[in-house]
Amino acid sequence: MKTIAILGSTGSIGTQTLEVARANGDIRVAALAAGRNIKLLERQIREFKPRMAAVWEEKDAKELRASVADLQVEILSGMDGLKAVAVCEEAEILVTAIVGMIGIVPTIEGIKAGKDIALANKETLVTAGHIIMPLAKECGIRILPVDSEHSAIFQALNGEDGRNIDKILLTASGGPFRGRTWEELKKVRVEDALKHPNWAMGQKITIDSASMVNKGLEVMEARWLFGTGLDQIQVVIQPQSIIHSMVQFSDGAVIAQLGTPDMKLPIQYALYYPQRRFLAGERLDFAKIRSITFEDPDPETFKGLAYAFEAAKTGGSMPTVFNAANERAVSKFLKRQIGFTDIYEIIRYCMDAHRVIDMPDVKQILDTEQSVYELIESRW
Ligand code: NDP
Repeated sequence: MKTIAILGSTGSIGTQTLEVARANGDIRVAALAAGRNIKLLERQIREFKPRMAAVWEEKDAKELRASVADLQVEILSGMDGLKAVAVCEEAEILVTAIVGMIGIVPTIEGIKAGKDIALANKETLVTAGHIIMPLAKECGIRILPVDSEHSAIFQALNGEDGRNIDKILLTASGGPFRGRTWEELKKVRVEDALKHPNWAMGQKITIDSASMVNKGLEVMEARWLFGTGLDQIQVVIQPQSIIHSMVQFSDGAVIAQLGTPDMKLPIQYALYYPQRRFLAGERLDFAKIRSITFEDPDPETFKGLAYAFEAAKTGGSMPTVFNAANERAVSKFLKRQIGFTDIYEIIRYCMDAHRVIDMPDVKQILDTEQSVYELIESRW
């Protein structure tokens, strides 16, 4: 029996984590945290019977407390609630499936409390990788990647000596706008950007995939997870999303992980690592797959990728600026307040305006996030 806690249980990764728990039958869910979807959280509490659950607003917590008064569950709210879920005594693994930089503080608390981290919340590593990775080492816990590309790399590295990595080949589908020109990108609508060709995901990451900002965030995530230089990470467009990523070793051998686009595989792999379990679902049928193709990315049109490499090279607080500017820009795009290419313009503007802080601590990271939001609100 494994015991887990989930931050972001009502989201795309959170619900699929619970599907994995349901299908396996030997995972106990000790604590859940969600944002505002208290109806779904209530159903999850009734099914999985956690000891503790948290929501963001105290008024939602009050409502939830009343609706689950017949159950033995403590309902908390705010950052204290997220932290309590993160350190929940019985849990061995903390699944960080919350969206945004709000994940940093509870993830740190979970690590300090000795939990292995099944990490989906890439924003945490992008902005605070220099804090998270040494802390994980110091506390003797494992960071188990949930992001499909990073899970693929993790699987390709199984049994290998990480020092023999020549390069990481991070694959990308190219999203719904692959091959479009800048002029065409200017005109895309929210509905178009939300139609990912291969993966069903939360709204924010779906927009990030369309802009290739997601791939930029993944480059930064990979660098921290696998300890490679940025020049050892190459983004390769693989439009069918069959190869989830590859590692090239010093002898020239390339090991790839292939599969159908189902996030339950990397989630389950992280929860049971190093064991592999049966997972129901479609299998790749190589008799039907006619071809697996590759392309170079187009960072001149999809500027998110170029800006991400630049932010990562600059380091310090710059990845936080890149991430925060994108977060706010995507939220404005989803509200139809700005156009698609304005996302890039906002990121560029914020990066140009920023004075870099080396090795920022958590407070400096969160202050930087806030100042980026203020800068954007003053102009857009
Ligand atoms: P979703 O938008 O589907 O879900 C986000 C979750 O975070 C929801 O449960 C939401 O709660 C919760 N949440 C948001 N704000 C708060 C808050 N203030 N307090 C507590 N909970 C909060 O996102 P995804 O599942 O798509 O993504 C989650 C993370 O995983 C992201 O970092 C993403 O980049 C990463 N990821 C996602 C993949 C995917 O396939 N979806 C693939 C790889 C990585 P509520 O809905 O109740 O408000």
